[in-house]
Amino acid sequence: MIARVLPLTRTRAVKGLFDYLVAPELLAQVGVGSLVRVPFAGRTLQAVVAELTLSSELPHERLASIEAALPARLPSDLVRLALWMGHEYCSTAARALAVMLPPGATRGISEKRVLSATITAAGRAACSDGTRLSEGQRQLLEELTQSTQLPAATLGTAALRRLESRGLVRLELRVVGRRPGRHSVSSTSATAPPLTAEQRSVLEQLLGVAPEGGGAGEFLLHGVTGSGKTEVYLQAAARTLEQGRSVIILVPEIGLTPQALARFEARFGDVVAVMHSGMSEGRRFDEWLRLARGEARVCVGPRSAIFAPLADIGLIVVDEEHESSYKHEGDPRYDARAVAQRRAAEHRALLLYGSATPRPESVHGARLLRISRRVDGRPLPAVEILDMRGLHHPLHPQTRLVLSDCRREGGKAVVLLNRRGWSNFLSCGSCGHVWMCPNCEVTLVMHRGGGYVSCHHCGHRERIPSRCPQCGSVSVARHGAGTERLEQDLIGALAGPGFEVLRLDADAPSMEARARTLQRFHEARSAVLVGTQMIAKGHDFADVSLGVVVDADQTLRFPDFRAEERTFALVTQLAGRTGRGGRGRVLVQTSEPLARPIVLAARHDSETFLQGELQRRSALSYPPFTTLIRVVCSALEQSAAHAAAVALRERIQPPRARVLGPAPLFMLRGRHRSQLVIKAALREAAIDAVAAAVDQLTGVREHREVAISVDVDPQ
Ligand code: ADP
Ligand code: ZN
Ligand code: ZN
Repeated sequence: MIARVLPLTRTRAVKGLFDYLVAPELLAQVGVGSLVRVPFAGRTLQAVVAELTLSSELPHERLASIEAALPARLPSDLVRLALWMGHEYCSTAARALAVMLPPGATRGISEKRVLSATITAAGRAACSDGTRLSEGQRQLLEELTQSTQLPAATLGTAALRRLESRGLVRLELRVVGRRPGRHSVSSTSATAPPLTAEQRSVLEQLLGVAPEGGGAGEFLLHGVTGSGKTEVYLQAAARTLEQGRSVIILVPEIGLTPQALARFEARFGDVVAVMHSGMSEGRRFDEWLRLARGEARVCVGPRSAIFAPLADIGLIVVDEEHESSYKHEGDPRYDARAVAQRRAAEHRALLLYGSATPRPESVHGARLLRISRRVDGRPLPAVEILDMRGLHHPLHPQTRLVLSDCRREGGKAVVLLNRRGWSNFLSCGSCGHVWMCPNCEVTLVMHRGGGYVSCHHCGHRERIPSRCPQCGSVSVARHGAGTERLEQDLIGALAGPGFEVLRLDADAPSMEARARTLQRFHEARSAVLVGTQMIAKGHDFADVSLGVVVDADQTLRFPDFRAEERTFALVTQLAGRTGRGGRGRVLVQTSEPLARPIVLAARHDSETFLQGELQRRSALSYPPFTTLIRVVCSALEQSAAHAAAVALRERIQPPRARVLGPAPLFMLRGRHRSQLVIKAALREAAIDAVAAAVDQLTGVREHREVAISVDVDPQ
């Protein structure tokens, strides 16, 4: 037998499948998806078996043999997925496999085994038939008669060994599962509530296409915030499980929204497996195994859960499908939403995207299901736009007024400012010197609490400066306000007995710390929560009556064709956190009060917004009407990065496409960057052309100091 394998290496030059002989004694352990060790170019590499075949193009005597089979084995559909992903994202199949292999598998992680003791028949008899036993031995045996098996360590391994040698006890290694803790939140209920008319209609349309679990289809559930989308996912999942099929639920960030997870666990119990980066590798590995063995049939997790080793998937849900966290920033730069499409098609599964602010891409491609009202029938909050032109304080006078009303009335408020730190940048009052990152072309942001200024791109830190390095002046001016300063302002203005001011942003030391802040806000009687976009994400706060967006233009100023969409989503999502338990009110501060995304978000008019977006994108040839590919060349020398980009440009000539650039990007982590953007009408052809050009260039000596990264469908 011959195995065609994909060696697990980062090198771009190693492409395609390599043939190895499978020795007869390994045949039982080696199948498609098996992780194996092979000799490769004088070294030993790990590899994944992609195919088994009887013949090779090479004579058998020239083939090397597989050295060993490791315990992990991917389902074969994931191997096919890796081959596709490697190509689709201009990467390699090996790099794609690296993100889908079981956690820790390549480092030999395996199940946890514990030495356990069981009493034998002779042991039972020995308790009563007068066999000579010490008092300690008798006690041990008595204890073992009470239970089927016990971990040896707690009883004393040495004593047990002596009993084992007399045949009174059996000792063996047993697998113990490392299960993650439950996320049970007290308010979650295990029983399904009766659906609202809109929810029911959505569920019927969704399941109508797959009467016997056969058909497939792609749907977008566009439901306003608080419309009960999660309940639709839960009931669709229940039906899928009844048909004997399995389910994947993708969520943006488990750490921030444990409620969604708790609801799945409460409803489905042990068949739910969870995988996220906050869990230890051992636990993730065990959850992976439970899925692979079919013991768990629902996988809930962030983007990487799309690679859950489930058989016969019947439903894939992508919750909050507009979230940018579905795009992977490492190589391959895959988009979990597109991978979900591919997996759903292969399994003939239903694909359900859900959001209150869907992407134009999904509106364009999927069948639309709508929920236009909140579950409890409460209206969406009233949104007022506050014009900030000519004002210098970060908060509008009206905002201050409404916030102190909120405090007086014992209410709760969320205040969004999508910028952390104290000040955006520092400059010298005498000579104008601006403090910049030494590795990146960006300003350093001041964090007063920590006593440092830092770069938000590379993490570089310095102490807060007291004098100018250029002219020695001690007048250092601070510009702009971030969440840290806003928190201080609000503490000064509002904090007091019975009213808390809390802050949530990426400065929090850990995921647990963030979850604690959210929990405190939940439990507080009256409080304001200040934070970055984190506070706008999917939280189901029952008693928030006021929402404030401090600088709604912040996302609008981004030089990106998705700037408008992001701004619309941020304002709408923030509004979505308010008024869930009663009347809600939202204030949006902006210096562009007439900007389309802001005006339409204030009217809760996503219909008009999305139509306009699609028209604009069609007119400007942006996705979903074209495919964008971004290629970035980076090097220590500006000229090297530029030269490589120019050389690439000459080599990339896809049909019906425009190649824009090279354009310089700001320096990042000490590397100069130059960028090409390809706008193509024919996706496949463009991907092929870029991949071929990049492969060619990586072989050219002159450009070997240049790193090239390709991003298909950049965010
Ligand atoms: P969305 O995800 O659309 O923002 P959620 O699914 O979080 O909305 O639902 C909002 C709230 O309504 C949740 O607390 C949920 O438990 C509750 N809910 C959902 N569906 C129903 C229903 N049919 N009857 C009663 N309560 C419901
Ligand atoms: Zn100066
Ligand atoms: Zn930096």
